Parts: sequence; structure tokens; C-alpha cells
Amino acid sequence: MPSRSDPQPRFEDTRISAAHRAALRSLDRVVGETAAPTPPGEALASTVDQLSSGEVLVLTGAGISTDSGIPDYRGDHGSLRRSRPMTFQEFAASPEARKRYWARGFVGATRMRQAEPNLSHRIVASWQQRGLLAGIVTQNVDGLHSAAGATDVVALHGDMSWVDCLACGHREARTDFEVRLEAANPGFRESVMSEHLVVNADGDVNLDQADVDRFVILHCLNCGSDRLKPSVVYFGENVAAETRERTRDLASHSRSLLVLGSSLAVMSGYRFVLDAEKAGKRTTVINGGPGRADTKVGVLWRTPLTPALEEVDAALRRAGV
Ligand SMILES: [Zn+2]
Repeated sequence: MPSRSDPQPRFEDTRISAAHRAALRSLDRVVGETAAPTPPGEALASTVDQLSSGEVLVLTGAGISTDSGIPDYRGDHGSLRRSRPMTFQEFAASPEARKRYWARGFVGATRMRQAEPNLSHRIVASWQQRGLLAGIVTQNVDGLHSAAGATDVVALHGDMSWVDCLACGHREARTDFEVRLEAANPGFRESVMSEHLVVNADGDVNLDQADVDRFVILHCLNCGSDRLKPSVVYFGENVAAETRERTRDLASHSRSLLVLGSSLAVMSGYRFVLDAEKAGKRTTVINGGPGRADTKVGVLWRTPLTPALEEVDAALRRAGV
């Protein structure tokens, strides 16, 4: 690593800081109010009608999982507001960054593992089972749609339940990986769990550098590389080509778009609205705060998500849908 006195930053460092700036710009894209929300009664009736017509593509974001205790990282208290976001470029290039990531995750990730699906996840799964949906696409990496009984969920930004080797592509289940981490770091978690260790709501922790230094990282079971990364899409990284293809296919077979709990600040989500709009499809956003696509959608329902979905589902059931 270059020291502070290095006159010229290395190419790699320049690239990493450019990726950081882009990530921070994306985080700051928390939009203000740009459009007047649809009156609630009208929004409810329209959403019920939309689902009754079937072939709805549902796109979900962090807002659907907050009731499961997973905070929206874009919110005022989100983890990415407190610390600089990890970019793919940094993770791939820096052994120190990987060590810090895995050490902190090893100590703090229990909150994520304990999360359970909430009523919103269960209602969406039930819509799918009743044949009302063209598909479910989520920006979340928590696996809670599937845990609620939904099938064929497209996880746009990957899935925490796998670990990928960046060198050879080998994939290991996170549960097996955790067992290996435990074996390589006996007593580590207990030793850092002192009274001054702050575990944040989303499981992120701040570890002393000395603790990070003594953490033992794992190597790929196939090729021995230490470049192991959770199978989630980082800032500065593209959505996998196969995933993009699946979402395009789902979108083309859908009649309309229903966005739940997302501000659509990231292009990979925002694009769904642009595409639906271009295709002349009906679009609805149900979200607790303002979003990037507010001026572009047909129905903008500003409301806490779970009670709204309960209302929609009750109306559907009354109508026998
Ligand atoms: Zn490998």
C-alpha cells in the first residue's frame, strides 16, 4: 500500500477512489419531493385493479424488509451513511479490505441471519401463488421473499447466501463458509465482544485494527485464492448478464409494473420504470418516501408499505381474486 507521502497515487488507487466517488454520488441521490402523491383511495383502487388484471411484475427494495429488522442502508441511519461504502474495485484489489470485511461480518452478521420474512413478503408470495404475477424481482440480498414462500425470485443485486471466488468462479454456500470461518478463528467473536464494541442495528461493527489484523481469512476450496466475496453486487460492479437477461424476459412477459419499498435510486432498479414507461405499461410505486421515478409513474402511493398491502390484499380477497 502507498504511504501518505507518495507523490503519485498508483493507477489502482485512482480507480478505487473514482469508484468511491461514484458510490457516494449514488448514495446522495436521495431525492426530494418531485411529484404529488396519488390520493390514497384512488391509489388503493388502482392497485387492486392492476393486480386483478394479472401478469404484474413486482420489483421490491429495502423498504419491504425494514419490518423484518433490516434497516434501509440509504436511510438517515443506514450503515453506508456512517462508513465509506465498500466498492467492488477496493474489495477485489485490496487484501486488507477483504480481511476487514470478513472480520466485521463474522462478528456482526447475526442480525441478518436471524431476520424473518414479514407480512409484506407473505402477501407478495401469496399473490404469486394465486397467479397474479409475471414475476418477482428484488434489489434486496436478504433472501426473505423466498423464505416467505415465493419462487423463482430474481435477486438483482445477488444473494448473501453464497460466497464466490473472484479468481476461479467457485461458489460455496455461506453456511459452509461460516463453519470454516469459525474453525479458522476459534474464540475470535467472544474475544472482541467487549462492552465497548458497538454493534449497529444492521449488524455492522467497528473493530480495532489489531483485531482485524489477527483475523484469519479463508481461501477458495478449489483454487486456494483469498479473493472470496459474498455473492452480492457491490457499488462499482455490474448486475450479472444472466440476471439482466432473466429480468428482461420477465419484463417483456408482464402487463404492468408494481414497485414496493424502493426509492429506485440505483439505475438497475430505475431502469424498470423507464422500460415500462417506454412500452406503455401501467406503473405503480408504493413507498414510504420520495423516489427517483416519482414524476414518471402512473400511480404514486406514499404510505407505510405493510398496511397498504394488507388493504390491497383484503380488497382482492373480497373480490374473489
Ligand atoms: Zn477459486
